[in-house]
Amino acid sequence: MRRASDIAAAAARHLEAAQCHACGHLFLPFGPVCPRCWSDRLDKRALTGLGEVATFTVYRQQYHPDFPAPYVIALVALPEGPRMISSIVDCPPEAVRIGMAVRVRFEARGERWLPVFVPEATAACPATATDNRGSKQ
Ligand SMILES: [Zn+2]
Repeated sequence: MRRASDIAAAAARHLEAAQCHACGHLFLPFGPVCPRCWSDRLDKRALTGLGEVATFTVYRQQYHPDFPAPYVIALVALPEGPRMISSIVDCPPEAVRIGMAVRVRFEARGERWLPVFVPEATAACPATATDNRGSKQ
């Protein structure tokens, strides 16, 4: 069961990207210099947290105890430009589609908060409320 303090901490988090002051390039993950112009004049910019599944794969073998199979790893295209690798959760793997609108959510995994994505429209993912591991009832 998730504690109220964890829920509040997750809600307070938001997705950020690095933005280059020299050329304006927005990128993820953060690095010491801009990958486009090599400037080190970088800042953080808050993103909307919205995205679209650009492509994905379904893992059917468990590699880590925090990621029970099956689970979906996706390349998520953010409307601000960057793309990021993340998980699609609260949706059976067979319901995930390229082009699906998703929204970021932060989940506690040990000491870290991981950005994962959930379908933006529950209609796109009818089993959202009861099944997040893809098993059929
Ligand atoms: Zn730059």
